[in-house]
Amino acid sequence: MVGPITIDPIDRFENLYEENPETACWEWTACKNEDGYGLFFNGETIVRAHVWGYEYHRDEVPREMELDHLCRSRSCVNPRHLEIVTHKENMFRARDKSRRSHCKKGHEFSPENVYVYNIKGRIDRIDRRCRTCMKEYQRDYYFKVTKKKTEETKCRVA
Ligand SMILES: [Zn+2]
Ligand SMILES: [Zn+2]
Repeated sequence: MVGPITIDPIDRFENLYEENPETACWEWTACKNEDGYGLFFNGETIVRAHVWGYEYHRDEVPREMELDHLCRSRSCVNPRHLEIVTHKENMFRARDKSRRSHCKKGHEFSPENVYVYNIKGRIDRIDRRCRTCMKEYQRDYYFKVTKKKTEETKCRVA
């Protein structure tokens, strides 16, 4: 007797997103709901893809808790871009627009401008940075270093 071909959910899951090399987001390529969250058939029922991925790779999400996309891309299923928060905190963050949507210098935290990273030495903790600020910082640093080098050379030559 030939039964239905069963594919392990994780094998299907791995084929349903594409990693964005720029943002490291795992962008869901399959069906999404009207809010833009990926939908996934876990073998029994349809669930939200980012929640399923988080629970598979990281930890169970308790009933009263929610997952917040630090990268601000709802279709992203990268568990490293998701932070577990209470419903209250999630609502508060959504309302607290100034902190939530812009960096200290006022650059918008658009999905393209957010850099999500692991806090050093704490694999379970993530935070985010503004890419525009990072670029500005790198540029300033580059100018400082090259300027210093030029001056040093001048001094030696003289
Ligand atoms: Zn992401
Ligand atoms: Zn910024």
